[in-house]
Amino acid sequence: MHKLAFNPSVELPVMEAFYTIQGEGVFSGQAAYFIRLGGCDVGCVWCDVKESWDANKWPLTSISSIVDEALKFPARLAVITGGEPLMYDMAALTTSLQKVGFVVNVETSGAHPVSGSWDWVCLSPKKFKAPLPEWYAHANELKVIIYNNSDFKWAEEHAAQINKNCKLLLQPEWSKQEKVTPLIVEYVKNNPKWGISLQTHKYLNIP
Ligand code: SF4
Repeated sequence: MHKLAFNPSVELPVMEAFYTIQGEGVFSGQAAYFIRLGGCDVGCVWCDVKESWDANKWPLTSISSIVDEALKFPARLAVITGGEPLMYDMAALTTSLQKVGFVVNVETSGAHPVSGSWDWVCLSPKKFKAPLPEWYAHANELKVIIYNNSDFKWAEEHAAQINKNCKLLLQPEWSKQEKVTPLIVEYVKNNPKWGISLQTHKYLNIP
């Protein structure tokens, strides 16, 4: 864990928090409250939230006020994303949300140690900073972003290490989706242990 200028059991840098529809993965189509934490050191070249990388840009927000905001909306599904939320100890945020009735999901690269109490872990490994092996046992969903042909082999390397109950999903990288989606369709037809995840929120034009 990085040395922090704040205490993550009290407050966290929140880049944005909003109520929307989960667009990707197994929970796709469900209303959810997204909490996007600032700070990421993974450095994906195709990252679509590069403004999240510098945690100092985002206001430190108390965990109690994060939870109070989440409670203003009717769904009791919270998705913690980033940035890379696991740069911080997630115990306080996750248990506080669960105490008031939220199912708490995370989207993580797995590049930092496991912390927090999660109902659903979406592990989305990145080439730029490999996941720590401990995440393979925790993942409920392995979501590999396909940017080019070599990513299928890389996806299989992660699948070989993941727990047997984990859902396996391939997702086209948005800027390459026209090129890679047909490759993914063929791949999944030939390798049916995998499924396809689409960024449906981008097609729906919602956040
Ligand atoms: S892990 Fe996520 S937030 Fe971090 S650089 Fe990669 S895509 Fe961007």
